[in-house]
Formats: sequence, structure tokens, C-alpha cells
Amino acid sequence: MKICCILCDRYFTPDKMQIKKLRKHPHRIILCPECHERIAERVRKRKKLQSLKRHPEG
Ligand SMILES: [Zn+2]
Repeated sequence: MKICCILCDRYFTPDKMQIKKLRKHPHRIILCPECHERIAERVRKRKKLQSLKRHPEG
């Protein structure tokens, strides 16, 4: 089974968890591992910034 990543338009093989999710929610957006990692990195950075704002002295 191959699906197309909506971000980079590349085809990739989803892992077992992603296949499960896709079966349950066929219209769910699934990203390739690369894009997923990129987004995760962005979220991590944002979370870091938020915690910095909350604790400006630290
Ligand atoms: Zn991608």
C-alpha cells in the first residue's frame, strides 16, 4: 500500500499504525516520515518558545 504525502507529493509506505488510522479515517491526512519529522520539529520549537515566554527568567 502506498499513499501520497500531501506536503511533498511523494509516495511512501505508511507504517502499521498509519494504515490502521487510514482505515478508520480514510480522509485523514497522513504525512511521509520526512514531513512528519519536519512538522514535529517545528512544534517542538514552538513549545520551547512558549515555555520560554512563560518562564522568562529561566
Ligand atoms: Zn512528505
